[in-house]
Amino acid sequence: MHELRRDILLGRWIAVLSESKEPSEYYLPPDKGIAERSCVLCSGRERETPSEITSIRRPGTLPNTPGWWVRAIPSFKPVFQVEGDLGRRGVGIYDRMNSIGANEILIESPEHNVKPEDMGLEQMIRVITLYRDRIADLNKDLRLRYILIFKNSKLDPDETFFHPTSSLVATPVIPKRIKDELENAKQYYDYKERCIFCDIIREELRVGDRVILETRNFLCFCPYSSAFPFESWIIPKRHSCDFHEISNEEIEDMGFTLMSVLKNLRGLFKVEPPFNYFIHTAPNRVPRRNHWHTLGEDFHWHIEIIPRLIRRSGFEWGSGFFILTTSPEKAAKYLREVG
Ligand SMILES: [Zn+2]
Ligand SMILES: [Zn+2]
Ligand SMILES: [Zn+2]
Repeated sequence: MHELRRDILLGRWIAVLSESKEPSEYYLPPDKGIAERSCVLCSGRERETPSEITSIRRPGTLPNTPGWWVRAIPSFKPVFQVEGDLGRRGVGIYDRMNSIGANEILIESPEHNVKPEDMGLEQMIRVITLYRDRIADLNKDLRLRYILIFKNSKLDPDETFFHPTSSLVATPVIPKRIKDELENAKQYYDYKERCIFCDIIREELRVGDRVILETRNFLCFCPYSSAFPFESWIIPKRHSCDFHEISNEEIEDMGFTLMSVLKNLRGLFKVEPPFNYFIHTAPNRVPRRNHWHTLGEDFHWHIEIIPRLIRRSGFEWGSGFFILTTSPEKAAKYLREVG
């Protein structure tokens, strides 16, 4: 019999199939060689990109010249823009506002063909430090409500740079998916007076069969009600709602953990599967409104890693009821044991 599981955080149900697919049963196209010649994100072509916002670079080198290790630049085609006011108003029964926000490209390496799991811990630490610094900076802008950092790997070659990058999008509203997490976490806390994420960490450590990796500061596991096969989360053991308050020791540990999971995914599927990961952190708090004043207690930042292995069916799109073709227990076992 298949099994239905309720997602404790989002409230939705998923169906876990009783016969789990093995990694080899998912189709993944082979890795193609990637052309470097036309890439303006490579070192040496800094003048052809929008002027850099910040970078971590060799001492003595100047902005917008080579010598950087990681670099943040504005997007070439931003959806959200920094200048202007929110212009909130009603249009008939509808609501509208200006697309105020920020779109940034976070260039993870001066090298064109390096994958995150191969870039080396020192470089990964710089990448995560850049994530932290950009969120900390945009956190001060009171017009912005949410800052999302995410990575798309291997998407449409026309739309996405093949150069290793992450993206940052800051929005003037809290996105729905985030709001659902915040609201359910708050409700759980109101009821139990415990952080739902800290409870999940305790439960996963107690049960153990969905754990992929545990380090000094982080737990990496496949969630009980994953929406995607081989979905993995990385969560700090220390309760903290704001990613940008991560310590230097935690940055190093997070780098190690993230690289380990991505390496294991590649080991399992023989090629690096396309994936997304994103950091869920607390929204910017607007001091004069107190709606989210309990976030310090009830929210807990984390990273969700989603390998893109499947296409959704009409049932899934129509119902929001996801079907999981490999159970989280099996997925975690594969990810633990590969390598
Ligand atoms: Zn490049
Ligand atoms: Zn917590
Ligand atoms: Zn989340």
